[in-house]
Amino acid sequence: MSSTTSLQWDLTTIFSGGDATSGQFQEHVNKLEKSINDLSSDVNDGVLTSMSFSDYFLTFQRLTAEVQEASAFISCLLSDDTRDQEAKKWKMVTVQLGSRLKAMEADFEHFLASLEDEEWRELVQKPELDGLTFPMEERRERAKGKMDKQLEQLAESLSKDGYHGWNDMYSTLIGHIRVTVDGETLSVGQANTKLGSSDREEREKWSQALRKEWEKYEDVFAETLNHLGGFRLSLYEGRGWSDPLHEPLLINRMSEETLDRMWSAIEDVKPALVKFLERKKQMLGIEEMKMHDVSAPMGTTVSSETPFSTAIDQIERHFRKLSPIMADFARESAEKRWIEAEDRDFKGAGGFCTSFPISNQSRVFMTYNGTPSSVQTLAHELGHAYHQRAMGDMPYFSTRYSMSVAETASTLAEQLVADAAVQEAASEEERIALLDTKINRSAAFFMNIHARFLFEKRFYERRKTEWLSAGALKELMVEAQKEAYHDQLSEYDPYFWASKMHFFITRVPFYNFPYTFGYLFSLGILEHAKSAGSEFERAYIDLLKDTASMSVEDLSRKHLSKDLTDKQFWLDAAQPIVEDIEQFLKLTEA
Ligand SMILES: [Zn+2]
Repeated sequence: MSSTTSLQWDLTTIFSGGDATSGQFQEHVNKLEKSINDLSSDVNDGVLTSMSFSDYFLTFQRLTAEVQEASAFISCLLSDDTRDQEAKKWKMVTVQLGSRLKAMEADFEHFLASLEDEEWRELVQKPELDGLTFPMEERRERAKGKMDKQLEQLAESLSKDGYHGWNDMYSTLIGHIRVTVDGETLSVGQANTKLGSSDREEREKWSQALRKEWEKYEDVFAETLNHLGGFRLSLYEGRGWSDPLHEPLLINRMSEETLDRMWSAIEDVKPALVKFLERKKQMLGIEEMKMHDVSAPMGTTVSSETPFSTAIDQIERHFRKLSPIMADFARESAEKRWIEAEDRDFKGAGGFCTSFPISNQSRVFMTYNGTPSSVQTLAHELGHAYHQRAMGDMPYFSTRYSMSVAETASTLAEQLVADAAVQEAASEEERIALLDTKINRSAAFFMNIHARFLFEKRFYERRKTEWLSAGALKELMVEAQKEAYHDQLSEYDPYFWASKMHFFITRVPFYNFPYTFGYLFSLGILEHAKSAGSEFERAYIDLLKDTASMSVEDLSRKHLSKDLTDKQFWLDAAQPIVEDIEQFLKLTEA
C-alpha cells in the first residue's frame, strides 16, 4: 500500500504529463482562449447577437470553470516548485483569460437587471437553467442596487489606478521596508514571525524595531488608507449605499442582525478568555501582558512526531466518529495522491486546497512536519476538499460560496482532530500545550479580529466627513483594541492599521468578521452534530451543497433548524471554548 503514504501529489490525472509542458494542458488553454473570443464577439454593446441568454449564461459558466481548472493547475505547479519558468509563463495567460471573463460579467448582470418581472420569471423556469436561480437572482439584485451600466463601467475603469492602485502602493511600500535587530536585517514578513518567538526579549526587540518603521512612514500609510477609504465611500455614495457594512454583508450573504448577535454572544464569552489571559500571564512569569505576549508559546512542546501515514490514519479515525463518508474521502484523497505534503526545497509557503471543477478533483498543498499543528492543518485542508466533493455534481455558479462559509468544512474538520488530540494527549504537559493552542485561536477570532472590525467600522463612519491623520488612526486603533481585549493588556499596537495588510485589500471590504463568523458557525454545526446523531452525516452534506445557494440565515434554518439571529445559537457554539478554558485553568492551577 505504498501509494497510501506517498508524500507527493499526482497532477497527471488532471492534465497528462502533470506539468506546464503538457500538450493536453496547452491545448486546453488555447481552445479556451478561442472560445472566449467567440463568446465576446457574440455580444455587441451589451446585446446578444446570435445566441439565447440561456446559451450565453451556460457557456460563460463552462468557460469560467475551465479557466479555474487551468489556473488551479498552474498554482499547484508553482507551489510544487517556485522556480518553474514554464508554469510562470502560462500563469500570465490564465490570469489574462480570467480578467477578460470578469470584464464580460458586468454585461450579463446588467442584462438580468434590465429584464421585466415577467421576462425574468420565464427565464428562471427554463429547464436548462435548473439549479442556477440563486446565482442569477443574486446578480440581478446586485446590479439593480448599483449605478447605471455606463457609470459602473467608468467606476471600474477609474478604480484600476484610483482605487486598486492604493492597494498596490501599500504592497510596494511594505516590500521596501527592512527591519534590523542586533545586526540581523529582515523583511516585514520575516520580522513578523519573530513576534511569535518563545523568547520574550526577542519578541520585544522585534516589536520595537517594527514600530519604528511604521512610525517613519506613518504619514504615507495614513494617506494611502484615507484615499483608499475615500474612493470606496464615494463609490458607495454613487450607488446610494449609506452604510459601510452594506457591501460586506451583501458579499457574505448575511444580515446585520446576525452579525450583531454573534458579537454580542462573544462579549458574553470574553470574561472566560480574560481568566485565561490572567493565568497565562502568571505562567509566563510576566507582570504586564503586551500584544505580542497574548499568543506567545508556553515553552511546553509536544515531543512525539507523527509520521504522515499515521496522520492520515488518525484523521480517518477522527472523521469516522462524525461521518463515515468524510472518513472514506480522507482515505481516498491519500490513496489517489491528492495531497502534496513533502518537506523539501523550492516549495511554496503555506497551505491551501484548490478545486478542479472540470475533472471534479481537489488538491491539498502543505509542508508536513509531524507536529500536532501540522496534523490539524492537513485535516483543515482535507475539510476544504470535502466541501468541494460535496458540491461536485452541481452547476459551477452554484458552488461559489462566500468567505463567511468558506471555512465551515475546514474548521469543522480541524476542530474534530484538535479535540481528539487533547483527549488523547500522552501527558498532562502535552494536554496543556494543546489546549493553549486551541484557546489562542479563539482569542484571535474573538479579540484580535473583533478589534479589527471595530476599527474598520469606526474608520469608515468617520472618513465620510473627515480626513484621519496618523495620530487619529493610532488613537482609533488603540481604542478598538482596548475594547476588544476588555482592557486586559498593558500595551496595545497603535500601528496595527498600518501593519495589517487586510485593511488595504480593495477587492474585499471588511476582511475580518467573516473569519470569526466561519469559525463560530462551524463550532455551532459541531454542537448540533452531538444531538443529531446518525442523521447528521446526510444533513451536513446537504448543508455544504447549499452554501452558495442561499443566505447564511436560510442555510442554518433549513439544515440545522437554527436561527442565526438568536443569540442562543452563538452562545451554544462558543460553549466548548468555555469548557476548554475551564479545563486549562484546572490543569494549570498548581
Ligand atoms: Zn482554510
